[in-house]
Amino acid sequence: MANAGKGINELLSEVIDQGLCTGCGACITGCPYVVAHAGRIVVLDKCTGTDGDCYKHCPRTSFDFDAVNEAVFGKAYSDGEFGQVLQVFMTRSKDPEILKRGQDGGTVTSLLALALEERLIDVAVSTRMDAEKSPHGNLARSRRELLECAGSSYEIGFSLEAYRSLPAESTEKLAIVGTGCQVEALGKIKQQPPRNSPDPRNISFTLGLFCGWALSPRTFHPYLKTLCDLSQVCRFEIPHTPHYSFDFHFENDLDPGSVSLDVIKPHINPGCHYCWDLTAEFSDISIGSAGSAFPGWNTVLVRSPQGADLFALATEKGIIETRTLPEERLKHLKSAALNKKRAAVKKITEKSGSPKDLLHLGRPTESIADKLLSRWAII
Ligand SMILES: Cc1cc2nc3c(=O)[nH]c(=O)nc-3n(C[C@H](O)[C@H](O)[C@H](O)COP(=O)(O)OP(=O)(O)OC[C@H]3O[C@@H](n4cnc5c(N)ncnc54)[C@H](O)[C@@H]3O)c2cc1C
Ligand code: SF4
Ligand code: SF4
Repeated sequence: MANAGKGINELLSEVIDQGLCTGCGACITGCPYVVAHAGRIVVLDKCTGTDGDCYKHCPRTSFDFDAVNEAVFGKAYSDGEFGQVLQVFMTRSKDPEILKRGQDGGTVTSLLALALEERLIDVAVSTRMDAEKSPHGNLARSRRELLECAGSSYEIGFSLEAYRSLPAESTEKLAIVGTGCQVEALGKIKQQPPRNSPDPRNISFTLGLFCGWALSPRTFHPYLKTLCDLSQVCRFEIPHTPHYSFDFHFENDLDPGSVSLDVIKPHINPGCHYCWDLTAEFSDISIGSAGSAFPGWNTVLVRSPQGADLFALATEKGIIETRTLPEERLKHLKSAALNKKRAAVKKITEKSGSPKDLLHLGRPTESIADKLLSRWAII
């Protein structure tokens, strides 16, 4: 799949109709033809454009790892388990309000609040759940607005739509929070700057979320509605092993509801089965809880010098607490990340019909595909 001369028609036939769409929202440009509706990308009218940003920036069209890594980190991609990492920590917020509202240790919200307060950014592009707990892209310009975004929706939310909604001439400094596919799209945007959205050099930080899979709003949300009154839910949670459940907690402190992950998994967004990225490798700082093994703590991978500066400031100002991630937990995280790559390569080659055709990840003539196959594929 080469990118040249392609637009929305090819995005439809090569990505959306093939069940590869991740729901990242990067294709929802200033162009009026592409919208997210009822949990999927819908094309409202015919477009004959053949050089579409929609196609170019989609994480499921041809992805040049070396070029994207060069645009993000200034060097070629290393084919390790989880990309470039400068520092590893376990962290949690020291702010009681953020700790209460945050999904795990509240590190994401704390770092964003600090960046706003210190005027390192003007706006945080994140995701917010509406009253019925459907996630949407959101622009937060204050601590209050950030707190409204805290917590995880496990459904895809097309959140990059919020970045695309900013005027192209905007000079606001941005932080963007997203899952792996979303920071992959941002990597492509940095590599090939968009025409209808703000200059990617305005992006001061990307905070990536670890992500095993996300749920399809098309099937999961109607099911979720049958389980509870969503307006009363204050938090969703997938607790650490040995638990094996999807839980929902209520505002009024009633016992949480819980369903087995076996019931949830059929609702995984089909495009997530082709996803290779557990730890959001193209972000400045990646944050999850996998690995920490301690409820209420985050696992943090600091990847870039800008990320390291923000993290150092957070430590210096005393807004987060840090611990060393035990070596065996780091090993476990690396092995989970590699397993996700292998599972993706397996699904991709099943779809392409050839063990050497990695669809969006590359073809055998490209050196990166050889690199990936030697490490990622179980041959
Ligand atoms: C779909 C999904 C799957 C995940 N899977 C894993 C996993 O397998 N293993 C793991 O360790 N961690 C996973 N996480 C990350 C985890 O849920 C927490 O987001 C992370 O640990 C940060 O915790 P925190 O307390 O710092 O977050 P908070 O401070 O509460 O901030 C959470 C941030 O996540 C953003 N957000 C919420 N929902 C979404 C969404 N649907 N899409 C994009 N951004 C969103 C919010 O805007 C907010 O900025 C997943 C997150 C998502 C959204
Ligand atoms: S993966 Fe993202 S950019 Fe590609 S079609 Fe889906 S929503 Fe659009
Ligand atoms: S599993 Fe991958 S494709 Fe799916 S939401 Fe997470 S990062 Fe995106």
